[in-house]
Amino acid sequence: MDEATKQARLRSAQSAVPMELDAATFRDLGHQLVDQLARFFETIRERPVTPGQEPAYYRRLLGQSGLPANGNDPGRILTHAADLLIENSLFNGHPRFWGYVTSSAGPLGSLADFLASAINQNVGAEALSPMATEIEKQCIRWLAELVGFPDGSGGVLVSGGNMANFAAALAAQRAKATWDLRTLGPGGGPPMRIYASEETHTWIHKAADLFGMGTAAIRWIPCDRDARMDVAALRTRIEKDLDDGDLPFLVSATAGTVSTGAVDPLSDIAGTCREHNLWFHVDGAYGAPAAVVPELKGMMDGLSEADSIALDPHKWLYCPLEAGCVLVRNPAHLPGAFSYRPVYYHFEGEEEDPPTNFYEWGLQNSRGFRALKVWLAIQQVGRSGYEQMIRQDIALAEAMFEEADAHPELEALSHSLSITTLRYVPTDLALEGEERESYLQDLNTALLEKLQAGGRAYLSNAVVNGVFALRACIVNFRTTDADVKALPAILTELGRGLHQTLSPGRA
Ligand SMILES: *Cc1c(COP(=O)(O)O)cnc(C)c1O
Repeated sequence: MDEATKQARLRSAQSAVPMELDAATFRDLGHQLVDQLARFFETIRERPVTPGQEPAYYRRLLGQSGLPANGNDPGRILTHAADLLIENSLFNGHPRFWGYVTSSAGPLGSLADFLASAINQNVGAEALSPMATEIEKQCIRWLAELVGFPDGSGGVLVSGGNMANFAAALAAQRAKATWDLRTLGPGGGPPMRIYASEETHTWIHKAADLFGMGTAAIRWIPCDRDARMDVAALRTRIEKDLDDGDLPFLVSATAGTVSTGAVDPLSDIAGTCREHNLWFHVDGAYGAPAAVVPELKGMMDGLSEADSIALDPHKWLYCPLEAGCVLVRNPAHLPGAFSYRPVYYHFEGEEEDPPTNFYEWGLQNSRGFRALKVWLAIQQVGRSGYEQMIRQDIALAEAMFEEADAHPELEALSHSLSITTLRYVPTDLALEGEERESYLQDLNTALLEKLQAGGRAYLSNAVVNGVFALRACIVNFRTTDADVKALPAILTELGRGLHQTLSPGRA
């Protein structure tokens, strides 16, 4: 058999492997998908935010067939998948999506994910991902610089804010235990205590529970009227626990609370932590990138003093899900909490230029290349691009607050960073006191459900000083002034309709 025939046979055998795509097919499918997605981005504004159907509707569309026995034409199944998703998704990239803290994602990020998965690096060890590991390290340095964290700090990318906060809390727990916690576990010493405000995101329940302390280890510190941690109460509680022989070790402050975007008094908390030798963590999953806006310097003061920061590139840095990041002032604390070196890995490299093996820096072992989309996003827009877009979101949230405040049927409740809360209050409401509050809660709950299913705009909810509120979190570079101005009419139309049917005394 001559060489050419041998090569031709090999090629045809390979093309018969069920998983392989030949180059020509890959090119065709890729172009087709990119065309479909370009049309999607082009028309996103004209689409409803969500189809707003019940789960059974989507189940029906999907069909109930069992495990495919044999293979299918890749072009057909890929186009079908794209159609299903484009026609039946809630679009957090829609200009009127303001629910939760889920941002619009830059389209470049989707191409970055495509590239990352095609090259498919395992960024668990530098030997397996030489360029990708260096890109991730550079990306982390840039993120640190963006939020004003000092040179020499380090970090790792994770799937999101929960994981970033977990990694920081584990590093803190291991750094501050006065015994060998990694060997003996939490029972090897006095009870460890965590301090966090009542507005802290629920990651902290999971962390205290899963890391062996139990949720009772969390000391809930009350907040002021603006949902910021009361630092005097924090000090009192730390001192009491010290008197009782407990081991206070971690204060978790929040820069941008999930309900109202409040920023804790970071500088004062940093001082308290220094005084008592506690780990100062800042959950900036949502709000940390606001440090890039010079006008907010006062509000963000103290962020750079943290021992660790959690931030989410998939929130205010407009990267597609999933991308979270934990930054630590002293990078040694991450391997200090997570590193084991089993005999079956041989990743030590050369002593004079040791590799960074991220499997030793966090909870994951095999790791995808989520840094690529973050690294590209930062290059695409630069510091000035983020400053402009974040400032714009804050201005839009403020405009929304003012629109509501000026409207006779809306009550503006709060505004901080890019979160505004408000509620619908009918002008002819005769109820008072508790009856009034309870009716307004029912009315606004029903309004929110209708709004969320309707597809015209999307809000979530919060409880603000005991009041049920509609909540807009604008982390959306597509939102315009006109979108914000359209909201009051949508809310009042729904509110009036519901008030007609619900109204007490109109039985
Ligand atoms: C979103 C958020 C989290 C959780 O982050 P995920 O990326 O959803 O895991 C934690 N804390 C705050 C303040 C958040 O806004």
